[in-house]
This record gives sequence, structure tokens and C-alpha cells, in this order.
Amino acid sequence: MITLNAYAKINLSLDVVGRLANGYHEVRMIMQTVGIHDTLTFEKTEGEIVLSSDAGELPLGEDNLIYKAARLVKETYGISGGVKVHLEKRIPVAAGMAGGSTDAAATIKAMNLLYDLRLSEEDLCGLGVKLGADVPYCIMGGTALSEGIGEVLTKLAPMPECALLVAKPDINVSTKEVYQALDSQSVPWHPDVDGMRQAIEEGRLEGIYSRLGNVLETVTVAKHPIVSEIKQEMLGNGALGSLMSGSGPSVFGIFDDEEKARAAGESIEKKGLAKQVFVTGPQSYFG
Ligand code: ATP
Repeated sequence: MITLNAYAKINLSLDVVGRLANGYHEVRMIMQTVGIHDTLTFEKTEGEIVLSSDAGELPLGEDNLIYKAARLVKETYGISGGVKVHLEKRIPVAAGMAGGSTDAAATIKAMNLLYDLRLSEEDLCGLGVKLGADVPYCIMGGTALSEGIGEVLTKLAPMPECALLVAKPDINVSTKEVYQALDSQSVPWHPDVDGMRQAIEEGRLEGIYSRLGNVLETVTVAKHPIVSEIKQEMLGNGALGSLMSGSGPSVFGIFDDEEKARAAGESIEKKGLAKQVFVTGPQSYFG
């Protein structure tokens, strides 16, 4: 039996720089793994792929990314055995935190170990991109620049130490609709991805929180003002910077102190802005 933690990500910067003929968006993003994680346990079976979970709302059949990941590895390498997976879900679902992608990444890694496939990280990422643009990043983890559709990855220095507050309001955002809305307007401005990359390499937190930017934020905020209210609540309670992650609706704040982050989180909960609130930090090493 193998147990793996599958970590969530936030986007410190998210830019859309083009659109490919196949409809995919060309992005430039700075990704950061955070301490919020699911836990998955894997056991070999004779052949079938079986999934169980403590999360009521998730599909546990062929639609689940864990199932798809296990089947992909099984078919690609002609493995007759299968896998039984139990998922403890902690990452908010459909939140802009790559919850499904990170579970898929963990499953690919687990199949590699369970069946002694001895695949390189590059091989694992090659499988991952077939399941989703964020899966290769989730396999690699840490701090990274992500380009192309998300599969061209450059490892960066670890994010400087800080406290992170993550809050997910109780609303649903469709990633597809957010990108479609962005297509119908021109991207009004671009975040300073390269400046942030340099600040990360120099280990300067100030250079990071002063450059937080996500071009999807205006689209989601226009439809869901609560995202902006949460940001304001974080900034009014000592956050050095605050931003929506991915297509939302999760919002994170960067704090220099865990106590401040906790107090801001309590204020957000008390005002009924979000029920799912986490105090965590950047995760530079994981497994
Ligand atoms: P991203 O940041 O990559 O856009 P997300 O955090 O917005 O991802 P997910 O939590 O990955 O979104 O879930 C999106 C959808 O994928 C959900 O509606 C869910 O039904 C489906 N899904 C399939 N497998 C999983 C899984 N293992 N965990 C979470 N969601 C899954």
C-alpha cells in the first residue's frame, strides 16, 4: 500500500498571452504549491480500478481524474493489474486550486511505484498532460513558471517564507465560462510575470506581493463581487497582497505573520463571506 499527499496550488500570477487554433489558451503563470492537501492511498488489484472517497459530491466512476489517470497508465504500459484508491478530500472542489489535477498527478506517481515502471519525471509529465494542462505542474510541484498551455515548466527558487490565507466562497465558477468571457473582450492589461520571476529568484517577498496579478480576476469579480469583498477583507486585516487563484473563486492573501492570517480568516468567516478557510504556507518540497 502507498499513501501520497496531493497538494493544491495557487497562482501568484496568471496571464493569458494568446489563443491557439484548437481553442486552448496560451498562458504565462507563476504557480506555487501550498500546504493544503488531499491524501490518497493506493493498493494493487487483480485488474479493476476502484475508487472510494470521504467527499460526497465527487463522481467516483470513470469521470474522476483519479480513475482516468490510473486507466491511462494501465493502458499505456499494458499492465494487467489495477488499483484500489481511497481519497480523503481536503482541497476545495472546483476552486481554482487544481484539486482534480493534483489527484491525477499523485495517481500517476503511485502507479509508477506500485508497478515498478521506473518512469522519469519527464515520462510522468508526458502522461499527465494528456489528462489536463495543470497535471505536469502538479507532478513537479514547488514554485514554477508555467507556459504554453501550462505544460512548459521552468522550476524557480522556493517562495520566501510567509503565511498564506486561502478562502473559498460558497459559489460555483465554471473555468470554461471564465475563459470564454475573457475571449469576448481584449485582455486589458498584463501582470508583470517576469518581474515576479526575478523577485522570486532574488528571494524578495515584497517584489512578489506587489506584483500579484490574474487577468481572469476581473471576469470572475464582475459576476461574483464576493471575490472582491474577500480580497478587501484580507487587505483590511493585514494582508500584504491578495489575489484570486486560477479562474476562482478561491482567494488567497499573503501575510508576514500566521496570527494575522488567522485573525483575517476569522473575520471572513464571521462575516459569512466564506466557509472554507485555511491558514497555510508555501510548500516547496512534497511527496
Ligand atoms: P483548476 O484549478 O485546475 O481549474 P479546480 O480546482 O477549479 O481546477 P477541480 O477541483 O479540479 O477544479 O474540479 C473540477 C471538476 O472536476 C469538479 O467539478 C469535479 O466534478 C471534477 N473532478 C473529477 N475528478 C476529481 C477529483 N479527483 N477531485 C476534484 N474534482 C474532480
